[in-house]
Amino acid sequence: MAGTGGREGARSVTKHVFVTGGVVSSLGKGLTSASVGMLLEARGLRVRMQKLDPYINVDPGTMSPYQHGEVYVLDDGSETDLDLGHYERFTSTKLTRESNYTTGQIYLSVINKERRGEFLGKTVQVIPHITNEIKEMVRNLADGETDIAITEIGGTVGDIESLPFLEAIRQIPLEVGRENCIFIHLTLVPYLKAAGELKTKPTQHSVGILRQIGIQPDILVCRTERAIDVSDREKIALFCNVPLDSVIEERDKDFSIYEVPLSLQSNRIDDIILRRFGIQAGPADLEEWHEILHRLRNPEHEVSIALVGKYAEHRDAYKSIYESLDHGGIAQKTQVRVQAIKSEDIEREGAERLLAGFDGLIVPGGFGERGIEGKVEAIRFARERKLPFLGICLGMQCAVIDVARHCAGLEGAHSTEFNRNTLHPVICLMDEQHKVVDKGGTMRLGAQPAVLVEGTKAAAAYGTTRITERHRHRYEFNGRYREQLERAGLVIAGTSPDGSLVEIVELADHPWFVAVQFHPEFKSKPTAAHPLFSGLVAAAVERHAGSAWVAEV
Ligand code: GLN
Repeated sequence: MAGTGGREGARSVTKHVFVTGGVVSSLGKGLTSASVGMLLEARGLRVRMQKLDPYINVDPGTMSPYQHGEVYVLDDGSETDLDLGHYERFTSTKLTRESNYTTGQIYLSVINKERRGEFLGKTVQVIPHITNEIKEMVRNLADGETDIAITEIGGTVGDIESLPFLEAIRQIPLEVGRENCIFIHLTLVPYLKAAGELKTKPTQHSVGILRQIGIQPDILVCRTERAIDVSDREKIALFCNVPLDSVIEERDKDFSIYEVPLSLQSNRIDDIILRRFGIQAGPADLEEWHEILHRLRNPEHEVSIALVGKYAEHRDAYKSIYESLDHGGIAQKTQVRVQAIKSEDIEREGAERLLAGFDGLIVPGGFGERGIEGKVEAIRFARERKLPFLGICLGMQCAVIDVARHCAGLEGAHSTEFNRNTLHPVICLMDEQHKVVDKGGTMRLGAQPAVLVEGTKAAAAYGTTRITERHRHRYEFNGRYREQLERAGLVIAGTSPDGSLVEIVELADHPWFVAVQFHPEFKSKPTAAHPLFSGLVAAAVERHAGSAWVAEV
């Protein structure tokens, strides 16, 4: 969102904001960092964002969604932490490989340097070699084009594995000047029912640990379920050595995460940051953001969408999809209620029983055989009952399997991911994947162009026939079955520019049956809903109105 604030005078020194978290994990550091980034952009500043994760995996690409939630893919193909999704949804900052580093990546880089002899025989140690590497990654953001670089440190203060990161950011003010750095610490102020009061001690302890390391936070953002009164804020300010106005309450938001920036702004976090940095900037232009909340609060329609996936009980596994459905709702002035259903439950109980009554279906991406037949069944139900459907990645592959088996008469058609010996491999391994051995970072990843066919639903939704979308898959539509499936009614609505890879399939005689090999959820924003999510919600609204009409008759 572009701000109208406007920067006054060019500044060459990039300022650094570091965000740490204390007391417990899952406090919403990513959301808070993204909100701060959004507010600073709204004041006309150029912001870059970065997350440093203390785990040893080189990237989250090889981690189970149960462990880590969704893997968020960037244009450049890097597989990153889901917090980067918040950064992209809240700000217009450009994210690249430099936007997410892990302990694993940092060690890998240092060890490779050691093998090349770059340390000239020295003993390679956590301090200074690992911390130097971390500092270099932070400094990479200070590129002369950036006014403020926001670096979020994953994990919780007090974790052993966070220590090198905290030590590195402690050192940065020595190099760039303390006046060019702000430390924001996100903490929890819990309400104890038995005592009937909020407790500040965990915050005091958490800040105590930071100060032992040598970091004095400048701003405390206090997560709380109840209002923190001024005497508690004074207590926190005094014990934590932070000015009173910099002890900021961040009350739980039951309604929408898009309230977070507005709540932080009402506590003047942007003013505090700019004042400390000595930056003059005009007021924030948040009109678009207020409009988002207005639409969320005053929907004109309501629809229910079923999300049928393997990790139904785990919301973070489909984070960007939930967000994108909300965006579709914002665009269509519709409250979208999403119910996640385990695809294995469809196998046990049948699609009819679990999907009747929904206005739309979404089948997201995934890996592994478990629950596959449930997804195919759900899609068959949507196809036969004309239920609006959006298939994403594995969801598209399952749609192709359904059409092959049930419309083209290709009995037993499957993806070779799940049945190597299927008679009809309608989905198969991409050529370039046959020689791949390593699992990490070896899929078809990142932004790829596609060309859409005029007159299709996809082309109408996008309003163009040339798109780029982000990918993350090894398997693809098997071109050998293309004609046969087209004869059975499948519309090939989009391909790679050379026509070799099928990117979008549709059905013509269906209100909205669109399935894509890429991940549209990584490019949707509250201020600019992705056309395919907006299209699904619009079709669901129509379906809902139609079914209400049938019920009335
Ligand atoms: N498992 C499938 C593949 O690798 C789908 C991947 C996905 O849904 N992201 O092609």
